[in-house]
This record gives sequence, structure tokens and C-alpha cells, in this order.
Amino acid sequence: MGRDSETGWNIAGPLFQTAQTVPDHPAVVVGKATLSYAELARSASALARVLRPRLVTRRVGILATRSLAAYQGIAGAAWAGATYVPLNLKWPAERLVALMKELALDALVVDRNGARLLDRAVLEAAPKLIIASDDAAAVPGALRIGELEDRGIEAPAPMPAEHSAYIMFTSGSTGLPKGVVVSCGSLAAYLHETRKWAGFTTADRVAEAHDVTFDLSVHNMFLAFEAGATLHIMSTLDMMAPQRFVRSNEITAWMSVPTIVAMMRANGLLKDGLFPSLRLSVFCGEPLPIPAVEAWARAAPNSVVENIYGPTECTVVCMRQRLTDPPVATPKRNILAIGRPYDNFRVALFDGDQKPVPRGEIGEIALSSAQLSDGYFGKPELTADRFRMINGERWYLTGDLGVEDENGVFHHMGRADNQIKLKGNRIELEEVEMHLRRTAGTDLASVVAWPIVDGSAQGLVAFIAGKDGDGAALQQAMMQSLPRYMVPQRVVFAERLPQNANGKTDRRALAAWLDTDSAKGDAETSPQAVVA
Ligand code: AMP
Repeated sequence: MGRDSETGWNIAGPLFQTAQTVPDHPAVVVGKATLSYAELARSASALARVLRPRLVTRRVGILATRSLAAYQGIAGAAWAGATYVPLNLKWPAERLVALMKELALDALVVDRNGARLLDRAVLEAAPKLIIASDDAAAVPGALRIGELEDRGIEAPAPMPAEHSAYIMFTSGSTGLPKGVVVSCGSLAAYLHETRKWAGFTTADRVAEAHDVTFDLSVHNMFLAFEAGATLHIMSTLDMMAPQRFVRSNEITAWMSVPTIVAMMRANGLLKDGLFPSLRLSVFCGEPLPIPAVEAWARAAPNSVVENIYGPTECTVVCMRQRLTDPPVATPKRNILAIGRPYDNFRVALFDGDQKPVPRGEIGEIALSSAQLSDGYFGKPELTADRFRMINGERWYLTGDLGVEDENGVFHHMGRADNQIKLKGNRIELEEVEMHLRRTAGTDLASVVAWPIVDGSAQGLVAFIAGKDGDGAALQQAMMQSLPRYMVPQRVVFAERLPQNANGKTDRRALAAWLDTDSAKGDAETSPQAVVA
């Protein structure tokens, strides 16, 4: 964090400093294109000069990812003292329009792929000031990043610690995603704790496997920029063959969701000794199966391997467990423990009345720290529901179930609600159901995560009761309002939906029916068999 007693703070401050110390060192590499630290700082400074006089809400949308423009846009927005708001390129137009209206952006930065999404409806909802990458198709009235006036590198605007650094969207149960607002102070606290163990230097070549809409990108980007490391951005194609990317770029630091390891193992790609260049491997976002992490450790013999845990609402992560020999395993789950909290965190395990459970019992993981987000953008009720004052302290209720063992190590024990992770994407099943019901024109509809392999969801299945229909047409219609990864891969028309003792749809019974159905290999059966 750029801290200066006179100028205040700016999250781009470290980038500004790095551009002075190692100006010619590569900051971001995308395919064959590279931006040095000086080049990145120059374009961020030029962008900031355009943005600064236009800031009203101080929010700048980033409709760009895995491109130089995405990083120029983020750095430029930060430099200007704005809040950067990544918008997902996988969102359909309807969702982009709804969120842009809600956000009232001052400006929008687009790369080539982002520009393609600017149809008439999106342009109408977008701010007047659009800044496009040089390789984007023409956008009416837009400025080009490469054509902005270059007056050298000016210092970034000082901002107070409570200023919002970014807003990161994640699935919300009411139909639209919810925006997690993270302050500069929370980000500073995160970096302070994380640099202690990540230890980035100018010698590091860091693989960026995530879109900038995912908060793991915050970790890589800000740690790299302050240390002068190089970010190597993976394309969607690189994600299919990560082994090639890591080897050809001699990557030293890797971070991803565990799903990628599972995928490599399934394809027989994770060979012993494959990654000699890696010194740090970090996994996050989902339970980390022990066989998978051990296979990775054999593939990366010179690497420390860490499992980190945390929701976006606590600024990336707050707990960490190193892979040891033997591993610290979570009983009966064959996954690695989530470990011990960061020094700046208090962790509690609560019962349903927010009272601590005795050690050794399962409770909801609650977190308290300077890293906690300010809450959800424009959603005071939801914020009050998840961020609670308890005995004079502000806690975030994660919805994760956990247990603390006799050594003070925490273990993840699943969820207390219907939030799932699908290939790293955080999804509230209720959000998918809301769209399913609207599209199918019935309330008798439910969605389950299925199948579950090694504790991880592999897909979504929709159930619709009491009517027949065209599953493919329904899926197509859902894609108008949901990103593809949230559209169920299969639609089952059933006579009725099973109910549990509380009269709610029994998702467990539906999943059990799918298990039986797939074991039988008989697609013609109907889930009426599971109706009590
Ligand atoms: P996100 O906000 O997308 O980072 O998702 C946060 C959620 O992912 C947490 O609340 C957990 O449910 C899950 N999660 C994150 N890290 C881990 C981990 N290391 N092990 C198990 N679950 C995790």
C-alpha cells in the first residue's frame, strides 16, 4: 500500500514506487504482449488524468479480463482515486444492463472482448465515458488507451483508508449478484498479512489463472505490483493445458482452485517432477482433496504448497494451512485442513443463536477483523443479516461450517446453506432457482448440485414438477439472464418434488434419485420414485 503521511493512501502507490525502482522490468505479460512497470504506470497515470475530473460516484467499471487493458484499467481507476468494479464478460446483456444501472458508473474500461458486449441496450446503460483498448472494435464516442495524452508518470491520488478499493460481485440468492465492497484499509491489512508468507520478489513469475472478477486476482496483482514480480496472464486456452504454460514461462508462483488439479489428474497430465520452477503453490476456493494436493506436491518438488481459506467478504482469505508430511487432514473428509487464522483475525464457531459452540463441535465459521468488507453494495438489509454486531464486535457470518481441533487448527465441514462452488464459481442455488422458476413459469422447480465428486460439485441439475416441457429450450432461455456456468446442464421433468420435514423441497432426495438413476443408467425413470 502506498502510504505517505502527507499524501495518504492509494492502492496503486506500490505500483508507482515499483515503476521508479525497476521501470523496465515486465509487470504484466499477456501472450506475446508485455507491459513494463514504467509502461503500466504511464498508462495508468494517463487514464487517471482523464478519469479524475469525471468522478462523481467514483466507480469505474472494468469490462475486461485476461488482457493488458484489464490491468491498465484497474491501475488507472485506482490511480485516479476511484473504486474499480470488474464486470464479468460471461454475464448476458440483461445482467450487465441491470448491474450498470445499479452501479451508476462514472466510466467504463473495455478490452476487445468487452467491446463486443456493448450492444445497444448495454451501451444505453453504460456511462458516457468509455475507454477502449487499442485492439477493440470501434465503440461510438470511446477514447483509446493508447491515444491518451502522455504527460509522464504523476503520483496517484491519495485516498483515505475507508475509501472503497473495489467491488467484487458474487452470486446472490435474490436473482442478481451481490457486490462485496472492500476498502483500501481492508486491502492494506490483507497485503500486510499475506506478504509475510507469499514473499514475492522481482524474481517471481506469477501465473494468473483467474479473471479479474474473482478476488484471487487481487492477491496476485497487488502482491506482484508491490514486489516488482511479473504477472503472466493465462488465456482460456492456457487454462486447458496449464502444464505447458507453467513450464514454458518458468512460473515460480501458482495459485488456483483445486478443480484444475483434478482436471489435470483426470487427464493423466500431472507427472512427478513436472514443475521444477515452482517455489510456491497455493490452492483456494474449494475443499482441497489430499490425494490431489499430494500429487501436485510430487509434480512440484521444489514448491511449498498452501491451502488458503476465506470468502470475498473478508478480503480474499483469512486462514492458511501448509501441506506437511503427513498432511493435516480433516477427519472423515479426506481434505486438507483450512488451518490457522491470520494474526489479524478472530474466528468463532457459532450455533444458530450466534453463541460459541464447545471446542470439537461443528459451528458456523464467523470472522472478525480489519479485513472485513464494508458489506454489500446497495443492500443494507443483506449486509445487516451477514455482518452482525455481537458483543460489541463486528462479525461476518460465513455460512461455512467448521470445527476447531485440539491444536487450534480449523477444518471446513461444508455449508450451512445452499451456496456451492462449481469449478471455482461461487453460486447460490436460490439464484439459479429464481431464474428457473421465472423461465419455466412455475414455482414447482428446484436446482441441485450434482454429481458430487470428492466433496466438490461437478454440475447443476434442474427439476420441474407438474408439467412437461422442452429442457433444451428452457436452458437456452435461461442463458439470456444467467452466465452459462449457472445454467443447469440437465433438466428433469418430474411428477412432484419430494419435501423434507419442514415442507421444503428435499434437495438431498433429488440428488439421491440422480445417484440411483445414473447407477441404473436409465434415463427414462422419473423422480416420482423419491416422493414420500
Ligand atoms: P469466494 O467468496 O468465491 O472466495 O468463496 C468463498 C467460499 O469458498 C468460502 O465461504 C468457502 O465455502 C469456500 N472456500 C474457500 N476456500 C476454501 C478452502 N480452502 N477449503 C474449503 N472451502 C473453501
